[in-house]
Amino acid sequence: MTKLSIVHKVSTPEKVVAFTFDDGPHPLYTRQVLDIFRSVNGKATFFMIGQEMDSYEEIAREVHTAGHEIANHTFSHPDLTKLKLEEVRAELQQADGRIRRITGEPVLNFRPPYFSVNEDILALADEFGYTAIGTVNGGAKDWEQPGVDYILEHTRPTIDHGSILIFHDGYGERAQTIEAVKILVDELHHEGYRFLTVRELLHLANHS
Ligand SMILES: [Zn+2]
Repeated sequence: MTKLSIVHKVSTPEKVVAFTFDDGPHPLYTRQVLDIFRSVNGKATFFMIGQEMDSYEEIAREVHTAGHEIANHTFSHPDLTKLKLEEVRAELQQADGRIRRITGEPVLNFRPPYFSVNEDILALADEFGYTAIGTVNGGAKDWEQPGVDYILEHTRPTIDHGSILIFHDGYGERAQTIEAVKILVDELHHEGYRFLTVRELLHLANHS
């Protein structure tokens, strides 16, 4: 598997998916996500913003303690392609340090804000040991809060073994996201899917 591309989905025979949540931690919505996944004994991945972690460190700790993965979504959520490479490095480094301080472990995954990257940025992410993570349900645009039904209808067809799904728990009103995720998790749970972190999903794909 090459790391110099963005991973949207992995190949696995197992009935597993990875739900991911960007832009938190958030004082209201992050805990609602934790409740949903606790109810099905599932795990998720949180692509956190460094400066939001500074504001809500306690919530980031709860995410880690509950067994979920915290991954890098930069320090201040810029379009990385508009920065100098050294500024990109600083963005990654500052978020990386904050995550490590909470988890005590190396950070493995990274999602570029707006999925905006170039070869240099992907090479830099690789230097950090990161895999760049995309998604299969970008068309659901949950960040625009287009309606619960819209999010559901544009996510359901993308779900397959090994799918990585994007949602947002931070930055703004997220009630539609929470409602849609609750419904999807319930449906998938009944269909026999398991909910893995991105770390677990990549590990599975590399060893099956
Ligand atoms: Zn984001």
